[in-house]
Amino acid sequence: MVTPVSETEPSEALRTLRRVFGYDAFRSGQQEVIEHVVEGGDALVLMPTGGGKSLCYQIPSLVRKGTGVVISPLIALMQDQVDALRALGVRAGFLNSTQGIDERRTVEAEFASGELDLLYLAPERLRVASTVELLDRGTIALFAIDEAHCVAQWGHDFRPDYLMLSGLHERWPDVPRIALTATATQATREEIANRLDLAGARQHVASFDRPNIQYRIEPKADAKRQLLAFLRNEHAGDAGIVYCLSRASVEKYAEFLTDNGIEAVPYHAGLDAQTRALHQARFLREDGLVVVATIAFGMGIDKPDVRFVAHLDLPKSVEGYYQETGRAGRDGQPSTAWLAYGLQDVVNLRKMIDGSPGDEAHRRRQSRHLDAMLALCETVECRRVQLLNYFGQRGEPCGNCDTCLTPPETWDGTVPAQKVLSTIVRLDRERRQKFGAGHIIDILLGKRNAKVAQFDHDALSTFGIGTELRDTEWRGVVRQLLAQGHASVEATYGSLVLTESSGEVLSGAQKVLLRREPERQKTARAAKERKDRKAPVELSADAQPLFERLRAWRAATAKEQGVPAYVIFHDATLREIATVRPATLLDLAAINGVGENKLNKYGEGVLETLTEP
Ligand code: ADP
Ligand code: ZN
Repeated sequence: MVTPVSETEPSEALRTLRRVFGYDAFRSGQQEVIEHVVEGGDALVLMPTGGGKSLCYQIPSLVRKGTGVVISPLIALMQDQVDALRALGVRAGFLNSTQGIDERRTVEAEFASGELDLLYLAPERLRVASTVELLDRGTIALFAIDEAHCVAQWGHDFRPDYLMLSGLHERWPDVPRIALTATATQATREEIANRLDLAGARQHVASFDRPNIQYRIEPKADAKRQLLAFLRNEHAGDAGIVYCLSRASVEKYAEFLTDNGIEAVPYHAGLDAQTRALHQARFLREDGLVVVATIAFGMGIDKPDVRFVAHLDLPKSVEGYYQETGRAGRDGQPSTAWLAYGLQDVVNLRKMIDGSPGDEAHRRRQSRHLDAMLALCETVECRRVQLLNYFGQRGEPCGNCDTCLTPPETWDGTVPAQKVLSTIVRLDRERRQKFGAGHIIDILLGKRNAKVAQFDHDALSTFGIGTELRDTEWRGVVRQLLAQGHASVEATYGSLVLTESSGEVLSGAQKVLLRREPERQKTARAAKERKDRKAPVELSADAQPLFERLRAWRAATAKEQGVPAYVIFHDATLREIATVRPATLLDLAAINGVGENKLNKYGEGVLETLTEP
């Protein structure tokens, strides 16, 4: 935290932070970037989701003369962004294709006469000559290029219109530019700097750690039951996202949750645009709604109080996983990233990669991504350290992930691994059949089922030699063999096959260390410990009913004004109010998140709510 030195006056930027946003101090990194841009310098800012990027351009826009022009691809969210700023008393507007002509004219006139602090623009608007002429008529404080990784041609979110943004500099050489993204890798960063002509810009790379997010990964046994337990025990009434791989499972789980009394809506690319927009808007506006979605959902969703992100299928890469889980807890409050993954996920993804179109190099790249994801799932080390390492950063064991809370044991699984692999060897003669993991486990357990009978597999020498482990334990063994590359999945039939390293395991030259899943009751204790850990922000028994009352007041006010609840006050702010119980407007002004405008607008309402009988 950067705090002002007592003998110097607080800077104009800091005064703006306090007056408009109601926050005490800049987060590390913000102040340097903001002061640099206020002085007219260019900047490239990499911060994780929730890191506080918006203030990096909003405050300079307020401090500098003229209007800050924000280029953003997220048209659907501009209205909410502008509403949130207006609630703070910031004069903001946007121009995009969703507007009627009258509304557009109004915003254009406001800009030209210098009545806007911030103007949000979709990148494609800059293709239109009239937009450029409009910009020439006003005074531009700065250009902010949000979601700057959209300029990266090999990235997932590439937008051709972003390539034109290098022209901003030629047309308006004196206007500072600030590019921002949450995408971390070195390659993307370099590409952004090159393409946007920002080689000389000040770079700020924040730590990608998100300490308030608890990372947990557990084996999938009965996904529905596990999800329900997770939501009921730890996140009752919370807003969150449940990610699934396919549209069908999105529908299935949304229905399942609704049937079980948890309000949930589906979101995937197969729904019509109107339904998608409606579900997104409900998620943003309502308290405590769950969205079950494919990865089509999420970019730019800046709802601060998403309390959990759950994955019911294995993500294809660590990047994707980190981006998706990063949508939890932008407000810095305790949140959970929970993933359940199983053997079948690994089999499915391996098959998908092997069968995917494109060249061999592409498949190998995808395969490497999956390997890294599997390594994260099966690690016995701190998940956070592993994640940070992946992004080239260092960390200490965090105490707030499942492996830190209940360290898994490792055990020498060489013999069970050999049993699995030698069964695969024996089945290899009947290549043109699907002998998946389930069948191999049945053989090891000595089950005389139909398939075993059909192929006389009870005659195999490995039949029934694996009764020392239970079915779920065998699944763990196979999963980890796949993760460690000692076995693989054949693309056509989905059978398990040997790999280059299988031989070494079979001969005993290579030991296989496996992770033993901690017992369930330990996991429950971990959840309890987590609750204890967050005790400082947990509400006292006295404050809880006040908090609920404030939430009800907020919901009513939000509805009346047609804005998302968090635009009025964040949960953290309501919590602090419920604990401190300010008696006067002056006391209320001292609460984090209560700036000048919100004090004027909502101060009386809050005080009344607090004193209600
Ligand atoms: P990003 O765009 O990087 O994902 P945001 O700009 O939306 O993140 O900020 C995330 C949250 O943190 C917001 O609720 C914001 O108001 C809050 N925030 C940002 N900077 C500060 C600060 N200096 N003090 C307190 N809260 C802050
Ligand atoms: Zn940890």
